[in-house]
Amino acid sequence: MRNLHNALLLKQLYLLRELGYRYTDVTPSDLEPDPVELPDTLESLEKTVTNCHLCDLSKSRHKTVFGEGDPHAKLMFVGEGPGATEDSTGRPFVGRAGELLTRMIENVLHLRREQVYIANIVKCRPPGNRVPTPEEALTCRPYLMKQIELIRPRIIMTLGGTAYRYLTNDETPVSRVRGHIIRSEGYLLIPTFHPSYLLRNPSAKKLAWEDLIKVKELLNTL
Ligand code: SF4
Repeated sequence: MRNLHNALLLKQLYLLRELGYRYTDVTPSDLEPDPVELPDTLESLEKTVTNCHLCDLSKSRHKTVFGEGDPHAKLMFVGEGPGATEDSTGRPFVGRAGELLTRMIENVLHLRREQVYIANIVKCRPPGNRVPTPEEALTCRPYLMKQIELIRPRIIMTLGGTAYRYLTNDETPVSRVRGHIIRSEGYLLIPTFHPSYLLRNPSAKKLAWEDLIKVKELLNTL
């Protein structure tokens, strides 16, 4: 799988840099690992993630947080990464921010949480809830891309700036792109604020609610 290959290649280049190399005449083809295929079922993919040690986040995690929900969901939420509660339970969005996300799903979309799919950019908790580094996000990204390929959601809502940036490679602040409907390969992407941000800034909830209503209207047309 191309994305995983690129992630492994990037990891090797970071390693060379840490060892003091500033230039290398090693070409990508020299570094090319055996083709690595990710499994074609969510169950097997989750097992792969559970045993993953591709980046440093594996050293401090207690549990990997693969994601959960309807494997055929039309709507998928993508957040940044697990927090402390998620790290101890192995489930995404189960802390205070998760409770707010659940209320948003139930009260605005009138769906049950089990009817959508919820995942993160990185599957292991960054220590102290810091933002994942570009290396960590790029290394873990192939798992998320495979989840998207298998679930085939029609709409993806990114939660917060980090999820939007790492999924799209677009640096535009989330405050400027939230609520936009962005056509992507096979799905519509709608960025909104992260529930943690909404807990700290309750006045922004109104805007997030507007974004969710847009999603609800789109879901009704699918
Ligand atoms: S964050 Fe992703 S790439 Fe890093 S160890 Fe966890 S599962 Fe592997």
